[in-house]
Parts: sequence; C-alpha cells; structure tokens
Amino acid sequence: MTSMLRILLAVVSGITGLAALYLVNSPGQPVYGKALEVAAITLLLAITLISTVGDVVKKQPAAGPSATPPAEGPATSLMSSAEDGNAVQLEVSKLLALLRQHAEANGNFSNVLERARDDLHESLKAEQVRIIISYLMIENDKMKARTANLQANLETSQRQIERLKNNLATAEAQGLSDPLTGLKNRRGFDVVLSSQVAACRSGGPPLSLILADIDHFKAINDRYGHPAGDDVLKWFSRILSGNVKGRDTVARYGGEEFAVILPATPLENACKVAAHIKAQLEQQVWQKPGAPNTMLRVTASFGVAELTDGEGTSGLVARADSRLYEAKSGGRNRVAA
Ligand code: GH3
Ligand code: MG
Ligand code: MG
Repeated sequence: MTSMLRILLAVVSGITGLAALYLVNSPGQPVYGKALEVAAITLLLAITLISTVGDVVKKQPAAGPSATPPAEGPATSLMSSAEDGNAVQLEVSKLLALLRQHAEANGNFSNVLERARDDLHESLKAEQVRIIISYLMIENDKMKARTANLQANLETSQRQIERLKNNLATAEAQGLSDPLTGLKNRRGFDVVLSSQVAACRSGGPPLSLILADIDHFKAINDRYGHPAGDDVLKWFSRILSGNVKGRDTVARYGGEEFAVILPATPLENACKVAAHIKAQLEQQVWQKPGAPNTMLRVTASFGVAELTDGEGTSGLVARADSRLYEAKSGGRNRVAA
C-alpha cells in the first residue's frame, strides 16, 4: 500500500472513529457497547496506519553524501582482504546502529506497555479491555518481528567479523614469518625483542640473545646448489627450534643468520643453550633431499649477550653481533659471549 493511500485511509478511519465516539457520547443517545467498540477499533486502525506510514518514511534511504549506511542486512559486498581492517570497523558500526535501533524500539514498546497499564487502572468495560489487549498483541507481534530480524542480522555480522578477523590474523602472521623456514622473520624478531626488552626493563627477569650464523654457507650453495642451500636453512632452523623452550623465540634474522630470544635467561644459561645447539650440529649430518648418500656436517658460530641496565634492543643486538664476529674470527664453530 502506498503512503498516500495509508494516510488517506488513516484520515477517513480517524474521522469515522471520532464521529462514532461523538454520536455515542451525545446527550440523549443510548450508549451501545458495539458502537463504542467500532469507534475504538476504527481509531486504532487509524493510529496503526499512521505509524506504518511513519515506519515506511523512516526506511527511505536518506539522500546525499551524509546519508547513514543502512543498518540492516549483511555486508555481502565486502571488499578485498586488503580492506579487511576497514570492513571490520564498518561491520561494528552497523552492529551498533542495529543495537541502537533495537533499543529505541524497546523504549517505544515500554511506553506502549506503560500507557496500557495506566489505562487499565481506570475501571473499563470488558470491550475496552479487549481492545487494549488486541492493541498490545499487535505491538508485541511487531516487537517479536524486530527482535527476530535483529538476531538474524547480528548472527550474519558475527560470522562476517569472524571471517575478517581470521583474514587479518593470517595476513599478520604471514607478514611476521619467513616463508622458507616458517620461523619469525626480521620483522617478527623486532616485534618480539621489543616487547621482551620492555618487559625486562620494567623489572622483569634477565633477557639474553643468541645470534647464530652458519659457517661457510656460501660454499654449500656453490657446491650443492641454491635449492640444497635452502634445505640446509630449513634443517638448521629445525635444530634451533628443537633445542629451545616454548617461551623462547627463534627467528631468521636474515640470509643464513638466525636469532634466539631467551626471556628469563641469564648470560650463563644462554651460553649453555648455544653450546648445546653447537653440539647437536656436530652430532648430526645434513642429507641432501633425493640423494641420501650426499651428507654434510654443518657448523655455525654463535654470539651471546644479556641485556644490561639502560640498554635497548639495538644495543643488545649490536653486542650479540660483535660477539658473533669474535666467534667467526676466532676460527668459527664456537660460542663467544
Ligand atoms: P661465514 O662463515 O663467514 O659466515 O661465511 P658464509 O659463506 O656463511 O657467509 P657469506 O656472507 O659469505 O655468504 C652467505 C651466503 O648465504 C650468500 C648468500 O647467497 C647465501 N644466502 C642468503 N640467503 C639465502 C637463501 O635464502 N637461500 C640460499 N640458498 N642461500 C642464501
Ligand atoms: Mg655464514
Ligand atoms: Mg652471514
């Protein structure tokens, strides 16, 4: 039904209802229960029509650039994963708009109930009570429909947000990890080290860092080829990861250089960890994939440092790096601290 037709019907119903009420209450006219009921129902019809016109008008999208986005309906046309962050914000503001709408509808419903309660305080005829009850039932049905709609939209939004959150988490993890070894990359290393240094500086336990560099790695590449060199990097990273605790972080610092962040570890224990890794390397051999008879002993050099008072991440890395340089220049396959 168009808005115009609704308004017209509302006006006609309103006039009819008022006329019926006037006639019923005119002096000398007998009061007929049925006539009173007709008057009330007609007035009710008029009110309902007017309120639905109001709803229709409210649902019209506002024109112009300042128009608010529609609050209902899932955001199915959401953008590419690069815009996932904005999409989450959009979805959250839609959720808030939905909840605001629902709160308003709830407030209106409460007003209706309060009005009905006030009306029921007066001594009413059975017909009038019936009318009030049927009005309340109409309002209740509208409220039920709004609640069902809200729930459906909330569920859709929740699924959408979950999907976007997963996308963001995956993108973030990819940005912080090294695709070859699966370890943290340099960025991931920086993030972890910064937070561990901050924790240590705010009164936490000691923090140590190991930098490890594979010896003569260029020669491995030259002799066995770059793909074999890649495999040595993966093999080396597995040995590192297999010899540290869960709280420790192993990262590929760059090229054939790796880092191990050791929270709650003093220098002495960090040196033990490095010595243990060095011993593991000496005991094991790398086997070329697809050529099990091609084996190689791989060694590495290690520089170890513990965070000192007033030192930051770059200071700690620089000291570990200079110890690594000492290990290299001292003959390789050794730990320097
Ligand atoms: P040193 O004992 O002094 O550390 O000698 P090195 O040969 O290990 O060090 P150098 O810096 O001379 O060479 C490192 C080589 O590592 C050179 C570079 O091509 C190689 N490299 C860096 N990243 C990768 C990679 O991702 N895969 C492979 N296969 N090689 C890499
Ligand atoms: Mg090297
Ligand atoms: Mg190197």
